[in-house]
Order: sequence, then C-alpha cells, then structure tokens
Amino acid sequence: MREKLASLLFGGSCFLCRGAARRLLCAACESDLPRLAMPLCPRCALPSPGALVCGRCLSESPAYDATRAALAYDFPADALVHALKFRGELALAPLLAGLLAPKLRGDGIDHVVPVPLSAERLRRRGYNQAAEIARHLGRDALEVALCERTREAPPQMELPYDERQRNVRGAFRCTRALIGARVAVVDDVMTTGATLDEMARTLKAVGAVHVENWVVARTLPHA
Ligand SMILES: [Zn+2]
Ligand SMILES: [Zn+2]
Repeated sequence: MREKLASLLFGGSCFLCRGAARRLLCAACESDLPRLAMPLCPRCALPSPGALVCGRCLSESPAYDATRAALAYDFPADALVHALKFRGELALAPLLAGLLAPKLRGDGIDHVVPVPLSAERLRRRGYNQAAEIARHLGRDALEVALCERTREAPPQMELPYDERQRNVRGAFRCTRALIGARVAVVDDVMTTGATLDEMARTLKAVGAVHVENWVVARTLPHA
C-alpha cells in the first residue's frame, strides 16, 4: 500500500536519478547516501579518532550534551535537504527521519522540539522543515510549539563562521519552564552548531538538564 502510494506520487521514479524505483529513492541511490560511518565526537558529531569527545568540545564546551547525525552534508544529502527546505518536497521528511531514526536512543527524552522558524518565515514558507522531520521522530514527546524564534537573523549561511554565534544570540524563547527535563532538538542540517548551541543554552536557562541534537546532516570540515 505504502509502495503503491509512493509510486503514484513519484511516478515510480527515483527522486535522485529518475531511474525506476518502488520507493522515493532507488536501492542504488539509497545505498550511496553519504552516511556518517566513521568514529564521531559524541558531543558535536564531527569525526574524532576513537569516538572520543573532540578537542574543540573540550576547550569550548557547547551547551548541548550530545549530537546524533545520519549523513554528511555532501551530495546528494544536500540536494535532499534543499528540496525539503526550499521546494516543498515534504515527502522527503519521512525518508530523512527514517535515516536518522536508527542513530537515536529516544528513551529518557521527555520533549522533542524542532528548531523553530520565526512566525514571519513560517508564514512565507508555509511549513518548518525541522518540524516536518521531527513529526516522524518525536511520537508522543513531540512539542512543536515548546520554543519560539523571537527574531530571524540573516540566514546563517550568508555569514562567516565566527559571526554566526553572535547572529543567533537571544533568538529563541521557551514557552514554559522545563525543570529537570531531557530534550532532543531536531534540525535538518548542523553546520557550525551555533544555532543548536543557542537552542540548548535557551532550554537549559529554563531548567533542562540534558539537551541533545538530532540532525539529518552534518557539515564536515573539508581539508
Ligand atoms: Zn536512484
Ligand atoms: Zn566535538
């Protein structure tokens, strides 16, 4: 039934290569996705020998406690994320969530929240891509409106890395206290981590004791 529906929606062709597919991606494209298979820092999900906490997290501890990520933000993961985010391809949300799900240990998480968009951006785009992904991961713990974005700074990708932290300072607000809560924050892409760091800082300021990031794709430093 599900496959029938997918082939109706996608004409039986793979979203990436347009070859014959009974699901959104053909088997070859799905197995070629840039999965993060190397040892990663448990805190920030960047490659780290022995999967130990990396030097950067040790010297400048982020406000979040852990990061779970499925893919490297390389082709074609970037194309999939882009299509969900800017072209309204909402059918990609369950696919991307499905890639992330095996990386999660959801037990002990009280609240699952997407990184919010400002009300204005939400109105213009019509949906929040992070919320669309979170919908397929959060189950009973999903709380789309637990946090709000009070202002939309210039998009992070237009800024140099070192300005991104300042750019998001004070950008979020929680709608209630979260004393002792363990929270997972869902986003499509983690680049510098500045946005997620600010989210975690905001959640901990209202009482959260543990914040972890659930991100579909992680931007890796390229030599
Ligand atoms: Zn394909
Ligand atoms: Zn790290």
